[in-house]
Amino acid sequence: MGQPMTTTHEVRGHLKNVLAGQARNRQGNCRIHGAFTETLMPNDQWSGCPECLEEGKAQQRQAEQRDRAGQTRAAKLEQLREGAMIPRRFQQRTLENFATDGHDGKAFALAASRRYVERFEDRFAQGGGMVMSGSVGTGKSHLAYGIGNALLDQGYRVMGIDVYELIDLIKERAFSQKGGSEREAIKAFVAPLDLLILDEVGAQLGTEWERLMLFKIINERYKQMLPTVLISNCDAKELENYLGERVVDRMNEGGGMTLVMDWPSYRTPTDNQGRA
Ligand SMILES: [Zn+2]
Repeated sequence: MGQPMTTTHEVRGHLKNVLAGQARNRQGNCRIHGAFTETLMPNDQWSGCPECLEEGKAQQRQAEQRDRAGQTRAAKLEQLREGAMIPRRFQQRTLENFATDGHDGKAFALAASRRYVERFEDRFAQGGGMVMSGSVGTGKSHLAYGIGNALLDQGYRVMGIDVYELIDLIKERAFSQKGGSEREAIKAFVAPLDLLILDEVGAQLGTEWERLMLFKIINERYKQMLPTVLISNCDAKELENYLGERVVDRMNEGGGMTLVMDWPSYRTPTDNQGRA
């Protein structure tokens, strides 16, 4: 920062000297830049090596630029997080804090989820999705949202919601908004999202229309080669009955996979008793 402008007697005297070519100069020697001439400043301090001064300013400029870039990136990630709509309950679920409890099935599921993140560039290019099916409390949602959170941190556009909410959003976009339509509503869940994670797929959802909307979104994403992750309490057969065999098969294309997580739930009382 420059010195504040003052017009004390001394400063005026100094300025007069500078203008008259009578500024007090001396020779200095910089350890980095060698010999230089410095001037006595109005604040009675020597101006120092001019090259060091210039470098200091340049460094400060660079630091400011880095700060700005960091803020822009942080703001962008924050925006991605908001858009992802991941339920609060799952915002802190990561692949790092998933406990396998020495369980082979869980360890396998975790390894597969890690691989999915590591190879997401390929999955993204080929539209490889994932189906996680199995009973309640096996950690499916934790792993799926863990994948979502990891990819959000990498700057991918992710959305992770349950089907009930998806249906609400479609209704809102299709019917409550000006110029809305089913078509427009479906589009909103296709191209703008690098990864769509749908939880509670196949839960006893009511209407045929709702199932059709879900089918259309999954199918549109398939056609655009965009990956989708489905989380379901149904087993593979039930899911096929619900969405159609072809839809489930297609999820496994492009490097996609189905993870069947059918071990006893950690939330069941028997399991708790076993551990106590
Ligand atoms: Zn210097």
